[in-house]
Amino acid sequence: MKMRSVAVAAVCGLAVGVAMTAVRVEAQAKPIPVMLLDGESGGPYHAWRLTTPVMKKELEETGLFAVTVVTAPAWGEDFSGFKPDFAQYRAVVLNYDAPDWPEALETQFEAYVRSGGGLVVVHAADNAFPHWVGFNEMIGMGGWRGRDESAGPMWYFEDGKLVKDTTTPGTAGHHGARLPFQVVTRAPENPIMKGLPAVWMHAADELYGTLRGPGKNMTVLATAHSDPLNKGTGHDEPMAMTIAYGRGRVFHTPMGHDVEALSCVGLMTLLQRGTEWAATGRVTQKVPRDFPTAKTTSVRVDIEAMDPGFLNGASDPVRETSR
Ligand code: ZN
Repeated sequence: MKMRSVAVAAVCGLAVGVAMTAVRVEAQAKPIPVMLLDGESGGPYHAWRLTTPVMKKELEETGLFAVTVVTAPAWGEDFSGFKPDFAQYRAVVLNYDAPDWPEALETQFEAYVRSGGGLVVVHAADNAFPHWVGFNEMIGMGGWRGRDESAGPMWYFEDGKLVKDTTTPGTAGHHGARLPFQVVTRAPENPIMKGLPAVWMHAADELYGTLRGPGKNMTVLATAHSDPLNKGTGHDEPMAMTIAYGRGRVFHTPMGHDVEALSCVGLMTLLQRGTEWAATGRVTQKVPRDFPTAKTTSVRVDIEAMDPGFLNGASDPVRETSR
């Protein structure tokens, strides 16, 4: 008996050793190289200098990614020296919105995604490049910068199904006041969505509607109802999509206007999981415990505080006490 228990202990010890080795190997796994591209936006309301550090922090907190920020020249400046080595990265996250690029750069980027590079498109990055056919195929749908019915149909959900509106004319891109809104999961088995609640409350953000585009190879993962009481379309608008472009995987969310919106644990989770999926085709991250519920938002105050304007509206403690 004594011999046997020693043998069992030895086997257990071996098993623990193997398990610890596995953990160590996982911990030492090389971080996934990700490029976070910024440098231009449609206006000061899209403050990329504030939102880029937030997105970098949120991605790196997972322990999965090594994020390199690459800042393009401002639009209209000299692009001749701007030659990002896309191939070094498993995914490119776009916090970037410019009207166009030199043709050689567009061709290089198309080749990168088509050959299997990941792409993540956040908020106004889907305003960029209205005339670049390949880019509009990558993002599925976009808005503003002169897009109208010539950019493609409007896409939204009605009665639980994706609708392609090819008949309504008009410009693309619209939102009401920044308010919290519910996000509804439409593809619960998708790796990015797996385990997330069916309905959850996103923090105050712009709810994009009337986006247009080719919508080729696009899967809508989540929608939000655009409330006519807040100048909305009355439709359930896509809030998270995947698009296949050649061998490349694209994750696109129109959410994320500012630091406040990006401080939502729900959106943060989508960004983290969508980036892993775009880079590797799978998602290994657990859903965080503080994920928002159907009725209650969940924001990270430490992220909100990364916007120096965060305290502008806060009550003045001196005045509070002297009243
Ligand atoms: Zn915006």
